[in-house]
Amino acid sequence: MIPYARQDITEEDKKAVRDVLESDWLTQGPMVEKFEKSVVDYTGGLFATAVNSATSALHISCLALGVKTGDYVWTSPNTFVSSANCAIYCGAKLDFVDIDSRTFNMSINHLEKKLIDAKKSNKLPKVVIPVHFGGLPCDMSRIHELSKEYKFKIIEDASHAIGSSYMSNKKINIKIGSCAHSDVTVFSFHPVKIITTGEGGMAVTNNRDIDTKIKLFRTHGITRDQASMSKKSDGPWFYQQIDLGFNYRMNDMQAALGYQQMKRLNSYIKKRNDIANYYSKELRDLPINTPLNPKGIISSFHLYVITLYDNFSKKDHLEIFKKLRAKGIGVNLHYIPVHTHPYYMQMGFKKGDFIEAEKYYEKAISLPMFPNLIQDDQDNVIKTLKEYLQ
Ligand SMILES: *Cc1c(COP(=O)(O)O)cnc(C)c1O
Repeated sequence: MIPYARQDITEEDKKAVRDVLESDWLTQGPMVEKFEKSVVDYTGGLFATAVNSATSALHISCLALGVKTGDYVWTSPNTFVSSANCAIYCGAKLDFVDIDSRTFNMSINHLEKKLIDAKKSNKLPKVVIPVHFGGLPCDMSRIHELSKEYKFKIIEDASHAIGSSYMSNKKINIKIGSCAHSDVTVFSFHPVKIITTGEGGMAVTNNRDIDTKIKLFRTHGITRDQASMSKKSDGPWFYQQIDLGFNYRMNDMQAALGYQQMKRLNSYIKKRNDIANYYSKELRDLPINTPLNPKGIISSFHLYVITLYDNFSKKDHLEIFKKLRAKGIGVNLHYIPVHTHPYYMQMGFKKGDFIEAEKYYEKAISLPMFPNLIQDDQDNVIKTLKEYLQ
């Protein structure tokens, strides 16, 4: 089976992990700091906190921004469940903003409309979590402008988008993770993502206070900083728990792997873009939409998603999907609209609430996309698609 995604692990990566195993530190230590610094250097964000998953990073980012019971948090329905769950962990009320039918990202028009309505009913969100779907950056300049007008905070779920960048409305190139238009940016290092640490995530921010809180929540709410303590230290062993945090730490073995992978990030992005361009060129005559690749934007191409034309039925979609799998092509579907999961339905969401995300779900197919996808395999995917769709 040609998978839809696959990690790339080199001999050097293995050596780096082995070196940690032979060192004094296994848990969070010098490699975690080194990995955090490499992401800071790459993205241009100021502070980074490595954790054990993007889900954890989303959770403690929400907490650091003060999300609590009764607050509203909005995200896209076309995402992995974590982008929504993180708000529920904090006791907040979660709502969705429907997607744009062409970018599959949160629609700015829908967002603006929903904000106008929410203002009237006094239910404005505390935090909005845009998701850079497949690596294609959301219109962050616009979301940032709206955040000023409607006073909400922004967490970018950039689980797909380390290495992506976009042009601001002032024509400046902005890297995802620089937090130019957000309070926090979150990355995932799950093996299917752009770079991996086995499991892992990171929260990047330009705000020192937010960073301090995120780091506090990463380790039980414990501080060793005298300035944050309620009394003078009892001695060199002393620490205080000043809030309720978690053990969300990344370990040094994971960080060593992540640090190695960061060195290859640019080459990964280049390879993914080459693969995407080749797909788009070869598939252009088929009755499908290929992903947008707008000028001024670099997508990490975490995913390469085609959508069948409108004349294909739900049944056609299923048939094509099954045929591709039967041919050893590990196509996948990103994502089941989050609001249609039973957990969210029992909260009151129902089919028809976010039409664009639901329509998309009946047409989308994620094709194999990873840096080591070999030409023969990609040609095989293309040939098979042509057979079934032409
Ligand atoms: C993968 C993913 C997550 C969760 O990442 P983990 O590191 O597995 O917790 C969250 N949001 C999106 C959009 C993702 O794709």
